[in-house]
Amino acid sequence: MFKIALTAGHYRYTAGKRCLKKLDANETREWVLNARIAEKIETILKDYDGYSLLRTDDPNGEKEITIEERVAAANKFGADIYISLHHNAGIYGGKGGGIVAYVYKNCSEKTKEWQKDLYENLIKHTSLKGNRATPLASSNLYECRATKMPAVLLELGFMDSATDVPVILSEKYADSAAKAIVEVIVKKAGLRKKIVEQPKIFYCVQVGAFTVKKNAENLANEIKAKGYSAIIKEETK
Ligand SMILES: [Zn+2]
Repeated sequence: MFKIALTAGHYRYTAGKRCLKKLDANETREWVLNARIAEKIETILKDYDGYSLLRTDDPNGEKEITIEERVAAANKFGADIYISLHHNAGIYGGKGGGIVAYVYKNCSEKTKEWQKDLYENLIKHTSLKGNRATPLASSNLYECRATKMPAVLLELGFMDSATDVPVILSEKYADSAAKAIVEVIVKKAGLRKKIVEQPKIFYCVQVGAFTVKKNAENLANEIKAKGYSAIIKEETK
C-alpha cells in the first residue's frame, strides 16, 4: 500500500495569501486554489487501487493547521511521499513567474527524482513554464526538511503575476495540474487502475401463465429437461 500525504497550503483565512486585487477582483485565496487541485487529485486517484491518502490540511479550510502538525501527521501516517500544494507571490503585478518545485537542500536522490518528475509533468500538462532561474529549487523549508519521506513543495504559479493569474484561476489549469501530479504518483507508486465490471444484461423469456399450479409445474419441468432454468412465480392479476 503506497501512502500519500497531501496538503493544501495554509487555510481559507490566512492573511495576505491571495491573488492580487488588480489582477483578480475576487482576490481568490491561496488555500482555495491549493485545495481545488488537492480535491481533483483525490478524485482522479479514486480510479486507482493500491494507495491510501491523508490530507493533512483541513479539507474544509476552516481550521488552521500548522505546518508542524501537518508534518507530524505525515510522519505518523508513514507516508511514502509528501506533496504540498501552494501558489506563489513576489512579482507585484508584473509578468513572468511559472511553476517552481521545492525540495530540501540536503534531500535524497529519490526526492530529487520526485521533484524533477513532478515539475516536468506539470509543465507538460499545464505549459506554465515561467522565467524563474531555478524552477527546480532547493531550500530549507520546514515541510521539506522535517518530513521523513520524500517531500516536494509545489508553487503552482504566481498569484501576483499578470501572466500567471488568468491561468491559475481557470478550472482547466487545476484539472491539468492535478492530472499531471496523479500521473507521476501512479507511475512511481505502480498504482493500478480499478477494474470496473460492466453490469450484465439478462434477457428473460416468459412462456405462459396457468390457473392450475400442476400445469405450471409440468411446463417448468419440460423446460428444465431441455437444460434451461424455469422459475414459477405467483401473481394475482
Ligand atoms: Zn503558500
